[in-house]
Amino acid sequence: MLPIPIQKTFTYSINEEEYNFLKEGMRVAVSFGKSKIYTALVYKIHNNEPTLYEAKEIHQILDEFPIVNKIQLKHWQWIAEYYMCALGDVYRASLPSAFLLESETIIYKNESFTDESVLIDDEFLIFEALQHQSQLTIHQIVDILDRKKVMPIVNSLLKKSAIYIKEEIYETYKPKLVKYVKLHSDYNADDSLNTLLEELSRAKKQREAILTYFQLSTSKKPIKAKELETKSNVSSAILNSLVDKNILEFYHLKTDRIHFKGDTNSLKKLNEFQEKALIEIKDAFLQKDVTLLHGITSSGKTEVYTKLIQEILDKGQQVLFLLPEIALTTQIITRLQAYFGKQISVFHSKYSMNERVEVWNNVLENKSKAQIILGARSSLFLPFSNLGLIVVDEEHETSYKQFEPNPRYNARDAAIVLAKMHQAKILLGSATPSLESFFNAQQNKYGFVELNRRFGNVQLPKIELIDIKEKHRKKEMKGHFSDRLLVLIQEALDEKEQIILFQNRRGFSPIVECKTCGVSPQCPNCDVSLTYHKYKNELRCHYCNYQRAMPNNCSACGSNTLDTKGFGTEQIELELKELFPDYSIGRMDLDTTRGKFGYQKIIGAFEAREIDILVGTQMLSKGLDFDNVSLVGILNADTMLNFPDFRAHERAYQLMVQVSGRAGRSKKQGNVAIQTYNPYHQILQQVSTTDYQAMFKEQLQERWQFKYPPYYRLIKITLKHRDYTKVDSGINWLFKALYNSFGEHVLGPTAPAVARIRNQYIKNVVIKIPPKQSLANTKNQIQKIKNTFEAVKEFRPIRFIIDVDAY
Ligand code: ADP
Ligand code: ZN
Ligand code: ZN
Repeated sequence: MLPIPIQKTFTYSINEEEYNFLKEGMRVAVSFGKSKIYTALVYKIHNNEPTLYEAKEIHQILDEFPIVNKIQLKHWQWIAEYYMCALGDVYRASLPSAFLLESETIIYKNESFTDESVLIDDEFLIFEALQHQSQLTIHQIVDILDRKKVMPIVNSLLKKSAIYIKEEIYETYKPKLVKYVKLHSDYNADDSLNTLLEELSRAKKQREAILTYFQLSTSKKPIKAKELETKSNVSSAILNSLVDKNILEFYHLKTDRIHFKGDTNSLKKLNEFQEKALIEIKDAFLQKDVTLLHGITSSGKTEVYTKLIQEILDKGQQVLFLLPEIALTTQIITRLQAYFGKQISVFHSKYSMNERVEVWNNVLENKSKAQIILGARSSLFLPFSNLGLIVVDEEHETSYKQFEPNPRYNARDAAIVLAKMHQAKILLGSATPSLESFFNAQQNKYGFVELNRRFGNVQLPKIELIDIKEKHRKKEMKGHFSDRLLVLIQEALDEKEQIILFQNRRGFSPIVECKTCGVSPQCPNCDVSLTYHKYKNELRCHYCNYQRAMPNNCSACGSNTLDTKGFGTEQIELELKELFPDYSIGRMDLDTTRGKFGYQKIIGAFEAREIDILVGTQMLSKGLDFDNVSLVGILNADTMLNFPDFRAHERAYQLMVQVSGRAGRSKKQGNVAIQTYNPYHQILQQVSTTDYQAMFKEQLQERWQFKYPPYYRLIKITLKHRDYTKVDSGINWLFKALYNSFGEHVLGPTAPAVARIRNQYIKNVVIKIPPKQSLANTKNQIQKIKNTFEAVKEFRPIRFIIDVDAY
């Protein structure tokens, strides 16, 4: 199997010695085409000589034992077939790139490597060559050493850390730990102050520190050790001695979550509702492999997962815990690590190649530190040998679907298949399940369990719809804020509580338009208007990152009448700074989280209550648990509702309920204020009562009526090319060919909302597959049409993309 987008596998010849050594799942270096070298994977060892070409010899064997197991190969096969891509695409996507050296791979010298004595003959030659040349391709190394078989040497250099390869330009994350101080748990009672002061009557400085501590703690904010030192005018030695006496204790942000009532990270006992859910899940698993846990936000789903995980670990099996990429960077890791400690390994794309290789090897060897893998969608490809349970948290999340490049898989669905291959169980969890999963549960295909109460019996937030059309008419708006929302914000601030404001657009304003002639500045590479970013006074394309300075005059008519329309997070942030000058305002969107740890920094600052009001995009909706947020405001619900996609309403519901779920999680009932021009919209009504069932029923009805999933399946074909007429004639040919096979079930051809991105024109057709039509036959037919398409010379340069379950 070669890591290239070609449908088939290739046969290479091996000698008897190699035959005795090689096993399926081991890597071999092979040449392919004129002069390319690839890292191939042994898929099958057989005796059928190819008839159409002469089998080349392999260069050499790269592994001593298989690094990919049989279940993985079977799973890859399923992915390739189901998602209609090449097995080689799956192979390439699955392995860390360090495992896939090829002739084009670029290697660099590791500047911090000094111990040249560990290098042997040829390794040294390459290392020396890198002193003169900053980089080398494997191809060049072949020339330097004047032989074809160089992969083991490069592998060995990699292992010895003398070199690194292209992708690996990562910093390692060292979180800055801030030291906080709290009263030792023995002293929690209210009457403890006097006892303490008596005890300390002869230690004047210590007494002073404790008095100041109680003074500061009335603000309910966490207290930094430094702050206590300054305010009470004592040295750190004094605080240390109080800690030695078990009166105070230190804790660190990032290693510890902030909890006020002094609870530690010990094992949690489930409440009766969680306990019941756990029993129901286990019962469901007796009959079904897949179970859906529909638990409202903050019902304590994570704690239920942990119990299940523990039981699987006790049986000596592995657990895979899937999360949307972004949720992975924060709180949940800390939470689960506090519980399972060293048995957890984390795997996601932001990790360095070495870290990923290490996790791969740990899973392969079934090491104790890889019993639980916490990962984003790609962790599905790790070499599990003994999976007992997969948890898919936030199963409705779109980020489980890979849209680009191949394989365009949905990790939730691929996980269900993987679980089956391991005879493992799989639990899907969400407060707002996807329509497909809920439907499957209703059809009894999945087990189904509900958790309808928030932990600690806190009620779901009170949700209020604010009619801003009316507010505008009555002149009760200040900028983008209704008077009502401003009152709620002030109330929360007065209580020293925090606020999250949601605006699903970044930048200052999405559109700049000339008031004289109506023209908006466009991206030169994409068919889309540029977004205004005030902070840098520039215009930016959100599709290709093109940027230019904000012009003074309209490029079409020359007038200086450029005006901004619409609003984004940046504008909201600025308005807030004027409205609430005494409070600290933070913003979380793609622009402020770009640096590798930008995201953690903002979350950390918000957790530490250094930020009072946090404005952000949908990043805010993903699994965050803040215990001091009492108000969530949605500035404009309408943009989400008026989106041309069959899932727009489902998504809008999910997004709004998830964002709302950040309010009032731990103490008292929170508030949610949703501003809209359209308060009677059925989705907003359903959000305001958190009526998932009503949303589900109504949406399902529409899906049936308009022939969409979960009833009909969708396969989308996209053509892309720089030349518009090529794409156009290609798509017309394709549409007719598909129409001949599938008739009215082919939709299109259409151009997407942004019809050109990075200078590539884009056209789509969608094939709908009715419930009774064979999926396999349909795919076969599509594949045949694709083969014919690609045989036409003028169509050959067009990119042909198939996306199965394209939503
Ligand atoms: P969900 O994932 O359903 O939104 P979480 O699992 O994040 O909910 O739980 C919400 C909050 O309640 C968290 O702060 C969590 O630590 C707390 N919590 C949940 N279950 C328990 C329990 N059994 N004991 C103590 N605290 C709990
Ligand atoms: Zn662009
Ligand atoms: Zn103009």
